[in-house]
This record gives sequence, C-alpha cells and structure tokens, in this order.
Amino acid sequence: MKRNKMCLSLMALLMTFMMLAAGCGGKGSAGSGSSAQAAGKVTIKMLDVGQGDAVLIRTAEQTVLIDTSDVDEKQKLRDALKKENVKVVDKLIITHPHADHMGGATLVMNECEVKAVYDNGQTATTKLYRDYLKTIKSKGIAYKALRDGDRLDFGGGVSFEVLSPTEDMVKEGGHDEKGKVNLNLNSIVGRLVFGDFSMMFTGDAEAPSEQGIMKRHAPKELKSTLLKSGHHGSKTSSSDKFLKAVQPEAALISCGKGNEYHHPHPSTRKKYAKHKIDFYRTDVNGMITVESDGHSYTLNVERGTKNDETGN
Ligand SMILES: [Zn+2]
Repeated sequence: MKRNKMCLSLMALLMTFMMLAAGCGGKGSAGSGSSAQAAGKVTIKMLDVGQGDAVLIRTAEQTVLIDTSDVDEKQKLRDALKKENVKVVDKLIITHPHADHMGGATLVMNECEVKAVYDNGQTATTKLYRDYLKTIKSKGIAYKALRDGDRLDFGGGVSFEVLSPTEDMVKEGGHDEKGKVNLNLNSIVGRLVFGDFSMMFTGDAEAPSEQGIMKRHAPKELKSTLLKSGHHGSKTSSSDKFLKAVQPEAALISCGKGNEYHHPHPSTRKKYAKHKIDFYRTDVNGMITVESDGHSYTLNVERGTKNDETGN
C-alpha cells in the first residue's frame, strides 16, 4: 500500500514535471506556462524565416509574435516556432496586411493557442486577408486595431508604445504622394520598453510615416537602444532624420538570401555606417537573439559577423 502511494505521488510529480517541460500553458491557464521567460528578462528573437518579418518576444509572463513572414515561408515559420517551443501566443501583432508579414498568421492561429490579435485595421482585398479575418472570427480570438497613443502590456514590466498609424492615416488608406495605395505607410510602429532598454519596431513603415511619427512625438519618445530596420532595410525607410531621432546602437534586418528586392539596400547600409549603427541581417547572420534584463543587453547571431556587406 505504502509503496503504491509513493509510486502514485512519484508519478504525479513526474507528470507535473513533464507538463512543465512540454512548455504548454494549456488552454485557459494564466500566462504561457514555461514557454515564458524567467522573471526580469525579455528575449527578442528575429526569426530566420526568409523574405518577410517574424519577431518572437518573450517576457516573464507573455509570448508575443510580431508578424508571421510570407506565405511561401510557412514551413520555415512552423519549424522556427516548433524549435522555440511556442504553443501559446498571448499577443499576435500584424503590422500591415502584406503577404510577407501576414503570410503565416492563419497558420499560427491554427497551430498555436492565440489569445489576442492586433493589427492596424487597414483592410485588404486579398484572399489571404479574408482567410485571416475568418480565422480570427471562427476561433473567437480577441481583436483590436492599434492606434498612435495605445499602449500594450507584454507582462513582466515590458510595454509596447504604439506610435503609428493614426486614425486619420487609416481612414485615408495609405496613399503615397502620387495617389497610389501603399499599405506599408500605415504599418504599426511601436517602441518596446523594458527599464533602460528599448527597441523600435517599424513593420514596413517608410520615410513619410517616419516623418509623421517625428512630428507627433518628442525625441525622448523615439530614442531606442535597438531598431528593427524598416521595410527589410529598403531605401524607402531609415531616413536620416529618423535614425538621428531613434539613435539606435544596432539595427536588425529581416530579409531572405539573394532576395529580388536587393534588401538591405546599399544606401541604407551606408546610412547606418554614417550614423554609427551596426547592422545584423537574417540572410547572413541567421536568427538574431537579443536578451535584456532592463539595464544592459546581449545580441547573438547564429553565424557571421555584424555589418556584413555580402549578399545583396
Ligand atoms: Zn515587408
């Protein structure tokens, strides 16, 4: 009897341990189980998922994913999320409804427990967008369009301050000066803040969006330790004035090997050199991992070195 009891409690202990080790918070449980970070830390991983964006953020309490790379890169995203043991996504943020950011959103909603979806509220006419909306609705996932001035709580003392778009920008529909629709312009731009550490997230926001942000916000609201390079390092983004306002120590660029857009553009790399900003790129460096305790930070790459001029 005694031995059986001990056996049972040992088994219970073992099962608890296995459940914790599996990293799944389970439906309805608070936080994200062991897939969240130890207290006092934020980990930001720019996933190596080809030509698109997908950034995984983990705090002591939550798992957040900003963008989901392209439709054609789905398998890479699936593999990356599996490797990172992501089963619960507390917040899924889609910066704008272009395929290279929204491509894997439905996959993430179908394969992980997504608790809330945020986007810029800008609609698109694509089947990809309709499927995305349909999935949010059918799964009953909480949804909110983000606006300049909103603040999201990522848990563990980490917040996300939204700087763009404004309601007027979304109503206007993101037209460029020639009157052509350019959905990049209304990308969600926001600053992750954790103590003294901060990182500016830009989606594919271009120079006019950057100008608008600088008009609406004081420099102290923009200065960031790190920058997610706007629009994969394209010459349309990372304007001189914006770089001067943000003053990042390093820029992280997500782009695919030998991509047809020639991202990151040589002129962007030149600008980074001029402003003494180191850059890292997923096509050369693989996954880029940043870890901060709210004071200092570390940045690690899978391969290569910073400021690599090879590739495009
Ligand atoms: Zn893009």
